[in-house]
Amino acid sequence: MSSYVGRFAPSPTGPLHLGSLYAGLASYLDARANNGKWLIRMEDIDPPREILGAADTILHQLENHGLHWDGKVLYQSQRLASYEAAVQTLRDKGLVYPCQCSRARLRSLNGVYDGQCRSRQMLRSTARANEVGAIRVKAPETTIHWLDIIQGRCSFELSSTCGDFVIVRKDGLVAYQLAVSVDDAYQNITHVIRGDDLLESTPRQIHLLRQLDLEVPNYGHISVLKNRQGDKLSKQSFAPALRSSTPGANIEQCLMLLGIDIPEDLAGATVGELLQWAIRHWTISPVLRASKLLDDGHNVRENSQEL
Ligand code: GLU
Repeated sequence: MSSYVGRFAPSPTGPLHLGSLYAGLASYLDARANNGKWLIRMEDIDPPREILGAADTILHQLENHGLHWDGKVLYQSQRLASYEAAVQTLRDKGLVYPCQCSRARLRSLNGVYDGQCRSRQMLRSTARANEVGAIRVKAPETTIHWLDIIQGRCSFELSSTCGDFVIVRKDGLVAYQLAVSVDDAYQNITHVIRGDDLLESTPRQIHLLRQLDLEVPNYGHISVLKNRQGDKLSKQSFAPALRSSTPGANIEQCLMLLGIDIPEDLAGATVGELLQWAIRHWTISPVLRASKLLDDGHNVRENSQEL
C-alpha cells in the first residue's frame, strides 16, 4: 500500500445522482490506481439541509456500484469538538472575529466581505458562536497558489475574491470550509479529487490548513457534469437518483465520461470487473477539465473545447 490516501465526502442532502457518482468514481479510481486507500466521510453537519436516511442510502449506493471503501465511515457530526478546538486555535492566534452583519448587508456586498466587523472586539473564549453572530477568519493579503493535478497552476487572491470568510455560521453550525479542512488533515488525506464546483473553496481550505499548521493535501478538480442548461447536476437542478437496478450501466456511463473506453468484450461484465479494468487504465488527463453537458437521457451532448 502506498502513502496515497483519497476520500469521497458526500453531504447527506439526498441520494447520489450521476454527477456525484462521476466525481466519487474519479477519486476512487485515482486512489486505487495509486495503490492507495479510499475513505468515506459523511459531511453531516448541516441538519437543516439533511434528508433523513440519505447517509445510509448513499453508502448502499456506493456498495451497489462496487465502490468499497477502507476503514470506518467518518461522520462529521461526531467531530464537533475538533472543530471547536480548531476555532479556538485560530482565535488564540488573533485570526478570527465575530460578525453581526445582516443578510441584507451581506447580499449587497456581492460575495466579497468588506471586513466591517474586523475592528470589533475579539471573541472572548467563553462566548458561544450563536451569541455573537457568525465567526469569520481573516483572509490573507497574499495570493494562494497551488498546482492542481487536473487544472494546472491555480492562483486565488482571497482578499479580493471573497474577503474574510465564515468558519462558524450565525446559527452556530460549523461551516463546511473549516470542517473539511480539519478532517482532511485528521484523516491524513493526501489527494482530494473532486468537482470543480469546489475550486474556489480550495484556497480557503489551504489558508485554514496553513494557519492550523496542518498538512495541505494535493488537489485535483474535475469538471462537474452539467445538464443541457449548463447547471451542475445536483438536487437543486433535479438530477434523478441513480437507478439502483443498473449499477453496471451507471458505472460504464461514468467511465465513458471520464474518458475510459470499455472494450466490447467487457459488455455485461459485473461492476467489480469493470472497476478492475478501469483501475488498470486510469490516467488523470486534461479530458477531465473539459465540461460535459448531458441531455435528459444522460447522453453527452457537447464536449467543450476548453482544453
Ligand atoms: N460535502 C461536499 C459536497 O457534497 C464535498 C466536499 C469535498 O469534497 O470537499 O459537495
